[in-house]
Amino acid sequence: MAPDVAMDIEGSIRVMPEALSNKIAAGEVVQRPASAVKELLENAVDAGAGSVTLILKRAGTELIRVVDDGCGMSRDDAAACFRRHATSKLFVAEDLNSIRTLGFRGEALASIAAVAQVELRTKRAADDAGVCIRNEGGRIASSEPCAMSDGTSLAVRNLFYNVPARRNFLKTPATELRHIIETFQALALSRPDIAFTLVHDDAEMHRLPAETGEPAEALRARIGALFGDQYPDMLVPVGEQTSYLTVHGFVGMPELHKKHRNEQFLFVNGRIVKSRSLGHAIQSAYEGLVPKGAWPFFCVFLSADPSRVDVNIHPAKAEVRFDDDRGVYGFLHAVVQKGLGGMLLTPLVGASSADTAEPWVLKSPAKEFTVPGTTRPAGASGFSSGSPSAGYYRKDEQRDAGRQSEELYRGVASLPIPDAGPGDENTLLWQLHDRYILTQIQSGLMIIDQHAAHERILYERALGYLRQGQGLSQQLLFASTVEFPPADFELLKELLPDLSTLGFDIELLSGRTAVVRGVPSEIHSGDKEVLLEELLDQYRRDDEQAGAERQERLARSLARRGAIRSGAVLAPAEMRSVIDQLFACDKPYVCPRGRATVVRIPIDELQKRFGH
Ligand code: ADP
Ligand code: MG
Repeated sequence: MAPDVAMDIEGSIRVMPEALSNKIAAGEVVQRPASAVKELLENAVDAGAGSVTLILKRAGTELIRVVDDGCGMSRDDAAACFRRHATSKLFVAEDLNSIRTLGFRGEALASIAAVAQVELRTKRAADDAGVCIRNEGGRIASSEPCAMSDGTSLAVRNLFYNVPARRNFLKTPATELRHIIETFQALALSRPDIAFTLVHDDAEMHRLPAETGEPAEALRARIGALFGDQYPDMLVPVGEQTSYLTVHGFVGMPELHKKHRNEQFLFVNGRIVKSRSLGHAIQSAYEGLVPKGAWPFFCVFLSADPSRVDVNIHPAKAEVRFDDDRGVYGFLHAVVQKGLGGMLLTPLVGASSADTAEPWVLKSPAKEFTVPGTTRPAGASGFSSGSPSAGYYRKDEQRDAGRQSEELYRGVASLPIPDAGPGDENTLLWQLHDRYILTQIQSGLMIIDQHAAHERILYERALGYLRQGQGLSQQLLFASTVEFPPADFELLKELLPDLSTLGFDIELLSGRTAVVRGVPSEIHSGDKEVLLEELLDQYRRDDEQAGAERQERLARSLARRGAIRSGAVLAPAEMRSVIDQLFACDKPYVCPRGRATVVRIPIDELQKRFGH
């Protein structure tokens, strides 16, 4: 029978043929309360429930009860469902390749019943009375008719009561509860059309109504109901379809990031999975958007032809493998990056749609914030105007992400870019307290930290020079002669080739004296005469931070010392130039030290604050 056939046929549970059961990965299904919760919730969903309630006592260790209004079971099935490999969902070996229900092994109830006291009450709509079966340690203790409404209630008491080792192995109630909540959230996200309720120790933690609208909006509403009212407005839709793979769902705006990964949900063919690789495909699309150690929100669904994805490699069914893992990685990464690009970058007051002929280059920042180098004397303010053709994303980077699978890549690349909306280069810029640049963007207000932003700019430029060529030098009006302490002088000698690549013009004299005649041209530091000493000092202090290679450290030190200071008054053209160059950077949203360069305040947020 087909695995997704309804289960309300008399005696529809059969025991799998031996060969098939052997084919299924062995392993323990129930490791902790959350794994039992997962199995019971999945069964309720598989049973076609419209409403599911999860009731817990003491983080599930005392009681886990799942009540659903699904199809229920016949008396025979109710008795049979505790037998290992009893399932109504899978019967021939080929079915394994096209698994569409959540359960398919017929292992869960048997495993749970073996390590707990279980009470099953179930009734089909066609039957007058239900049946109540109590099962202790894997043996049926009693079976009697009972009065109840249609559906199934399964109570699991004292999990691991007969496996003290397991019981002692459990973490604190708070930790176990957190795992359960995550499981509950995952199931609730996978089916917004089903109402879910969660009660713990008599307190209602979640009451989620069934969301009836169009699927994407239903999911958005469900996310809001689960995580908070601020979420629905801060979600970026992602979606893409190829003949092989479909992706849909939401990723959070960078501001929604958390210090933990508990708000990252990934589903493959409707099943929650924990995949390091796929998680990384999404996470890495946020590179430069969220600080290190921060985890963005996502709730993303992948669907693939069941014959091309193996969900059977993990006993708790939480891992997956695709026949083209790398291709899927690249595709997912590209889809998320594109979604984020559309949402985050269009806000920059925009180019006309004619600029978006090249699909991957979202638009040229030079267009909206141009300070053409030709209209002012070159180097007059110590700025160069950056490469006007650079997009927010490097084209080659995009290609890399998608290359693993050409077919998938083309699917994404041919998408139209969301319209950027009107805008022009006369957009007003303000400087706040001589530290922040404020500007209007399509979605609200953008605030740029002038120092952090310029640090990012100088850093990337310096690194570029160090890796591939000569930086420009600006000659000092008066060459400065400096006598260095012995240690610094040694360091100077060591770094000299790199320093001259950066644009320093230094001559070493006898003794420990050096003459500095020029410094890198983009430098904005007030006192260029002491820049070199400050740089060496910074470089040495940076030393204590582990790891970074020499050029990176040097670039970082130069950026830190050479960047526009907080407190420096900027002319409008300088502000534009900062914005222009910032968004030509590879990673515009963080400074080299990992702090934010830009904060966006969405207009909705402002409206909320004003009580709209
Ligand atoms: P699986 O879900 O892999 O089939 P389980 O051990 O979880 O295995 O469940 C065994 C069988 O019990 C299921 O195939 C199904 O027929 C029946 N069953 C379990 N829970 C429910 C439920 N809530 N409503 C209806 N039938 C259920
Ligand atoms: Mg099941």
